[in-house]
Amino acid sequence: MAEHVGPPGPLAAAEICSFVATRAQVAPADVAAADVDRWRERESQAQSRSRDDNEAAARACAGAQLSAFRCECGDESCTCEIRLTFAEYESVRAYATHFAIARDHENPESEQVVEEHERFAVVATVSGEAAKLARRSDPRQWRR
Ligand SMILES: [Zn+2]
Repeated sequence: MAEHVGPPGPLAAAEICSFVATRAQVAPADVAAADVDRWRERESQAQSRSRDDNEAAARACAGAQLSAFRCECGDESCTCEIRLTFAEYESVRAYATHFAIARDHENPESEQVVEEHERFAVVATVSGEAAKLARRSDPRQWRR
């Protein structure tokens, strides 16, 4: 009976809030600015790598109902798989700074959740440097 199926209830929303609060503490305030920059850069690179993998996956299974994609969060060790339709994936890729992630995988320090679905969430990179990197590494930048 205690399965987590379907949209989150009020309790799940509270859980998300506490999780987000935990994630917000990932970068302690006393860390040198250079360290934060390096950490943001690695996070951006991890996101770009996942996006590149997903671009290949999208080409391979265009048209399929639901396809498996890699979570595009900034956590290098994240191995989560998310399921999107090709149309959903394409709508995320319409913006160079948007990434599809598993729910609750956003980093509130540098990202903003712009869409939340049952199977995944979409975040927009809001930190200046990370957004620049996301745009520069966008594999579709010349096809827009
Ligand atoms: Zn993730």
